[in-house]
Amino acid sequence: MGYKSDIEIAREASKRPIQEIGAKIGIESTDLLPYGHDKAKVSQSFINSVQDRDNGHLILVTAINPTPAGEGKTTTTVGLGDGLNRIGKNAMVCIREASLGPNFGMKGGAAGGGYAQVVPMEDMNLHFTGDFHAITSAHSLLSAMIDNHIYWGNELEIDVRRVVWRRVVDMNDRALRQITASLGGVANGFPREAGFDITVASEVMAILCLAKDLKDLQERLGAMIVAYRRDRSPVYARDIKADGAMTVLLKDAMQPNLVQTLENNPAFVHGGPFANIAHGCNSVIATSTALKLCDYVVTEAGFGADLGAEKFLNIKCRKAGLAPSVVVVVATVRAMKMNGGVAKADLSAENVEAVQNGCANLGRHIENVKSFGVPVVVAINHFVTDTDAEVQAVKDYVASQGAEAVLSRHWELGSEGSAPLAEKVVEVIEKGEADFNTLYPDDMPLAEKIQTVCKKIYRADKAVMDKKILDQLKLWEEQGYGDLPVCMAKTQYSFTTDPNERGAPTGFTIPVREVRLSAGAGFIVAVCGEIMTMPGLPRKPSAESIHLNDTGEIEGLF
Ligand code: ADP
Ligand code: MG
Repeated sequence: MGYKSDIEIAREASKRPIQEIGAKIGIESTDLLPYGHDKAKVSQSFINSVQDRDNGHLILVTAINPTPAGEGKTTTTVGLGDGLNRIGKNAMVCIREASLGPNFGMKGGAAGGGYAQVVPMEDMNLHFTGDFHAITSAHSLLSAMIDNHIYWGNELEIDVRRVVWRRVVDMNDRALRQITASLGGVANGFPREAGFDITVASEVMAILCLAKDLKDLQERLGAMIVAYRRDRSPVYARDIKADGAMTVLLKDAMQPNLVQTLENNPAFVHGGPFANIAHGCNSVIATSTALKLCDYVVTEAGFGADLGAEKFLNIKCRKAGLAPSVVVVVATVRAMKMNGGVAKADLSAENVEAVQNGCANLGRHIENVKSFGVPVVVAINHFVTDTDAEVQAVKDYVASQGAEAVLSRHWELGSEGSAPLAEKVVEVIEKGEADFNTLYPDDMPLAEKIQTVCKKIYRADKAVMDKKILDQLKLWEEQGYGDLPVCMAKTQYSFTTDPNERGAPTGFTIPVREVRLSAGAGFIVAVCGEIMTMPGLPRKPSAESIHLNDTGEIEGLF
């Protein structure tokens, strides 16, 4: 039986003009700034005008620890949004924009899959409305102004060995990870070591996604630390006087992008910070605006619930005053099997025992999410190879954990397949049991916040931090940064720092290698294990097979 590829399905979509989509959620065409016929930004004045309205219900979609089998969080987010609309609810989805770089490395889009996709998916995975280009430009302006400041006499007494502001480009380019800048003689400045990250790893991206409005954006940009002096005192972006011009470059990028699902329901696609050194969810401005326009807003957090949902709840919700009514944990039979020890090549064969063995990972995520005071629904994202017995095994397990699992077939059938999930989600919301609390209070010492996440979420015995790290955290507390939440940078594949430790391991520690201050975004990053801020391309990058066909359509992209 042949199934169509994501791009084939997307190409067949019968899209409605974007003004019609806007009208569904009460946005007049005068408040839409169209980019072509099927994308539009929402005007700042419209966003301001809805602020006093009541909020709809926020639904977070998260997942078990990812496996190479694929979980389908975005696909389920989009499917659930369409399912809610199908059962007569006023609902929309909020997801992230895609980074250009990875599209040319490994296949895998950011717009969902099968019959649960956001369109136009080609645009979304390429230049879209130019937001990431604007972020690259704003980031690069600051980079240029720092070296320019040093060139013209370095009045701020920046220690050129301690410039912490790197450069960015939205491409996977490992050759740029470490570079020497300003070579070529006196006219080109003072040679120093520098390097590039991918644009989505920029602190500017994290800020764009956490800022409430343009004023807040400028303040946060100004508060970023770009370098240190010889006496170790910080130099801020506002000292370089870059914050105003950066805000100008980001003015349009701050406005959420409206697009539609395959079923012509509204979707905001806005922002896309890294999920390791940043918090990994779409913008606060998109989510909070959507909550003013719809009764139900479905959004996604990156990676598994140990990282994505934890940061969504402890960083985004805390900072933006949001509170989810329910959390949907996506699980697949295939991923349960992989967690239960089955190799990827053998996933298609029925193996109920492996499914049962793999469920412990799901169980821990359910328990974790519940500890935030929010009810859980498990969505079994159905793959056509799943057998009834395997699905039943997951349902039985979830029931034993005091939650309910619903089989959802949105990938194959669109909203017809996700309506049962939508019904269940609404039923749980209507019970009104959610009583959201963050995992730790603002005033807990920073080291203790890290310990709390490691012990309560990962179930580690403890986080291991040497004196240098503890002293650094103390210093930040003395400098007034003690109230910030922590942003954990850890492998997404395991509760531990070892990506091969699947399931629900116990009896381990979390070594914290390094801590970083993202003073503008407003969090302390705890780096646990190797993290990558500039990916490379694989031996055979997908770019080699991406091309335009004779009719001018894109081939090879997903
Ligand atoms: P995530 O958001 O968890 O990273 P996505 O929703 O982007 O995952 O899905 C990753 C890939 O898996 C996509 O290419 C999508 O088409 C595919 N996929 C998702 N759900 C299914 C499913 N039920 N059956 C087959 N393929 C699926
Ligand atoms: Mg996703």
